[in-house]
Parts: sequence; C-alpha cells; structure tokens
Amino acid sequence: METCLFCRIATRELPGKIVYEDDQSVAFEDIHPKAPVHILIIPRRHLPTLLEAGQADDRLLGHLLLVANQIARQKGIAERGFRLVLNCNDEGGQAVYHLHLHLLGGRVQRWQTG
Ligand code: AMP
Ligand code: ZN
Repeated sequence: METCLFCRIATRELPGKIVYEDDQSVAFEDIHPKAPVHILIIPRRHLPTLLEAGQADDRLLGHLLLVANQIARQKGIAERGFRLVLNCNDEGGQAVYHLHLHLLGGRVQRWQTG
C-alpha cells in the first residue's frame, strides 16, 4: 500500500532509523520513544492489523517475535528485561494501521491501563 507510512519507511521512501531488516521484516526506532529503547518491528508485507493475519501467516508472526529476541540482545536489554506490545484497532490504541510490535526496554516497565 503506497500511502502507508510504515510501508514507506520499510522501502526507504521515507526516513527512518532502521536497526534491523531481512527479507520478511524491518525494525526501526520509534519517532516518539516511550522508553530508552523503543523499536518498532514490522512485516514488510502490508497487514493493517493482527486481525488480517491468518493461518498462512503463522511463520511470519513467529518470525517477528524472533526478531524482537535478536534486537533485544543487540540492544543489551535482554537480560534486564523488556516488553513487547501489539496494539489492535481503536480501543487497543492503534494509530498506524500497519501491523507492528513495540519493543520497549531500558527501564522498568509498569503496567498501564487507560
Ligand atoms: P500504535 O499506536 O501502536 O499504532 O503505534 C504507532 C507508533 O508509531 C507510535 O509509537 C508512534 O510514535 C510511531 N510513529 C509514528 N510515526 C512514526 C515515524 N514516522 N517513524 C517512526 N515511528 C513513528
Ligand atoms: Zn503498510
């Protein structure tokens, strides 16, 4: 989808601080970090939300978790701990409609609602 912000970052049409990429996924720094480490991990393929993912995407979804594992180690937050967040749709707090995982670390994560 040409107009999608994250598709355009993945293709480097728009700037982004890319920290990792492979044939299926791209990871880049969040522009408004909520923690000392805040990385967004996206599939290259445009999936608006988790709800559009199906059985055929099971390997892709697993791959995104393994990319998070790898980046957490690279960023030095693996042992101390980190949080992965996936927001879905309006009440889930999703603002950008290209499926993404937030990798948050570098400080104690407190559970927040609201
Ligand atoms: P969500 O609310 O889960 O859809 O998260 C969207 C995230 O994208 C937010 O944390 C934003 O700060 C981040 N974001 C928005 N625009 C950009 C951008 N151009 N580059 C990097 N991150 C962005
Ligand atoms: Zn997209």
